[in-house]
Amino acid sequence: MNAVFDRLAIIGIGLIGSSIARAAREHGLAKHIAIADASETHRKQAQDLKLGDSVHNDAAEAVKDADLVLLCVPLGANAAVAAHIGAALKKGAIVSDVGSCKQAVIRDVAPHLPEGVHLVPGHPVAGTEHSGPQAGFAALFQNRWCILTPEAGTDAAAVEKVKAFWAAIGSKVEIMEPRHHDLVLAITSHVPHLIAYNIVGTADDLETVTESEVIKYSAGGFRDFTRIAASDPTMWRDVFLNNREAVLEMLGRFTEDLIALQRAIRWGEGDALFDLFTRTRAIRRAIIDAGQETAAPDFGRGAGAKGDAQS
Ligand code: NAP
Repeated sequence: MNAVFDRLAIIGIGLIGSSIARAAREHGLAKHIAIADASETHRKQAQDLKLGDSVHNDAAEAVKDADLVLLCVPLGANAAVAAHIGAALKKGAIVSDVGSCKQAVIRDVAPHLPEGVHLVPGHPVAGTEHSGPQAGFAALFQNRWCILTPEAGTDAAAVEKVKAFWAAIGSKVEIMEPRHHDLVLAITSHVPHLIAYNIVGTADDLETVTESEVIKYSAGGFRDFTRIAASDPTMWRDVFLNNREAVLEMLGRFTEDLIALQRAIRWGEGDALFDLFTRTRAIRRAIIDAGQETAAPDFGRGAGAKGDAQS
């Protein structure tokens, strides 16, 4: 399947949008890359970094004549962007996105697309805690999963084209049901982020008591939580508002398990703790063996690692 598009429009040129622009350019996947962003600063940066062939203030101008439109804005902006660009889309255009939850994207975008435009929602499971056009890099999607969640009956050729695009920029592509995607990502990404935000918030509250100890001794597990808790506030607010059901379901299970651990500590049940910690150590080994994480101590920080997969 040919992954080259005549005109690719990227709406939202932040971390993900700019990484796609760089990768598409590097692999020659679009004859023209049109960029739109609401932020004047980001548009200027996109121009200076030569991320596209044209940079637009108005997203409807960017999508005009586009074969592939990628929505790379925060989840909360999708409905307004889709409503704005809907009438400007050409017949046969493919609209895709990169949002971290999929049911909400279908709910917000599908109603605004005219007949003959194909919606193929997507989620690259790759990212860093940084935002904006300067934070992106072409290799972000290399060997990372990209999950596509087209609804039943979606044009098969459109799905194949989006699949070929992601494969061409280095991703492994999987097709998944939107609801299943949201449940899986709730436990692998959304709840872990919530836990990180919470633990860093709790420690920050304690800081008034312990003064600088939280920072001073942060070489322990806490430091790894602070990296995740530095993730973009807008993006993550929108993730929790848009994947509410799945997150609450997983959070319920997490809370039950946490209480079981609390009991084990209270009653000195060392075997229960040891068994769980042995099981979880094996899970990390499996993730490393699957090529999803570095085996280097300290996450390879000494080697200058650029970032870890998120969301
Ligand atoms: P980002 O770096 O903040 O980029 C988003 C860009 O969209 C910003 O330039 C933002 O401008 C712009 N924008 C916001 N509202 C807009 C609108 N109505 N019209 C046009 N542009 C608009 O965010 P990101 O990390 O790339 O995330 C984008 C999407 O990718 C999100 O849906 C997120 O769920 C998904 N995602 C993120 C990651 C990750 O690790 N970051 C991973 C996978 C998927 P302002 O800054 O001025 O608002």
